[in-house]
Amino acid sequence: MICPVCQETLKFYCSCKDYLVSGETFSVLKCPMCGFAATENPPGPDQIGKYYHSEAYISHSDTRKGLISMIYQWIRRIMIRRKRLMIEKISGRDSGSILDIGCGTGHFLHEMQQKGWKVEGVEPDKGARDCAYGQFQLKILDSSALEAFCKESREFDVITMWHSLEHIHDLDGTVEKLKKLLRSGGLLVIALPNRTGYDASIYGKDWAAWDVPRHLWHFSLYSMQKLFQKKGFVSKGVQPMPFDAFYVSILTHQWKKDSFPLLRGLYTGLKGWWYSRKKVQASSSLIYLFSHFKQAQSQSAEA
Ligand SMILES: [Zn+2]
Repeated sequence: MICPVCQETLKFYCSCKDYLVSGETFSVLKCPMCGFAATENPPGPDQIGKYYHSEAYISHSDTRKGLISMIYQWIRRIMIRRKRLMIEKISGRDSGSILDIGCGTGHFLHEMQQKGWKVEGVEPDKGARDCAYGQFQLKILDSSALEAFCKESREFDVITMWHSLEHIHDLDGTVEKLKKLLRSGGLLVIALPNRTGYDASIYGKDWAAWDVPRHLWHFSLYSMQKLFQKKGFVSKGVQPMPFDAFYVSILTHQWKKDSFPLLRGLYTGLKGWWYSRKKVQASSSLIYLFSHFKQAQSQSAEA
């Protein structure tokens, strides 16, 4: 496997277990140059579906059973509002067109629509699409819509991917599509687990956000910025997602069947949250902000 950032051959990094669904073990490979990592030999697009078949896969099923799910739902409400405020502040707009790729059950798009944004969503899971329609009357499209949008030369003021890029097999193709679909000067927002954050360093191979084989790519701050810069994007900053440290840490202890998972997870989560206030790299997840300037690029190409 070759690094998409620097073309180096990826080397073995660790073995991770799929605690959520299959119990199978997958190797994670890492680039010795930039730190980009990938799950080795993951199930292909036609086989991966069964690895999502879990009641506990909350972002698809909207299940409300259990304490962890309740915490997840509560945090999600807070996070959705923070996401909107962040987008409105950084893009300098309080309305416009937004495309959410991997929109799950549509909670974020619903919030944006309520506040006057023109929304479009793409989600591969049919159950989640149906749920978005049932709850919010949102007509979410399947993944083939991205290709169709590109052919129609559709452009969006804002494109968001909240923890979805790491699930998509065609990484290079997706980045190319993002370039086409983002209006020149628009805002691209990509949230990803941070495999070099504090909680990841504490839990090592057991860190819940490895989430193999569903997570195909495992980015570090450096490798993610390098990849998008290589593709012509301009960084508009990186922001921490402070609450993810709690969720991921509790989940890690729960999956390992440790005693007192909530208490222990809260303790690591609190420490991770505290460190990420001082240093963004310590954050459990990171929000990458990019822009892309089509006009400026074609002008410099002509010159
Ligand atoms: Zn690399």
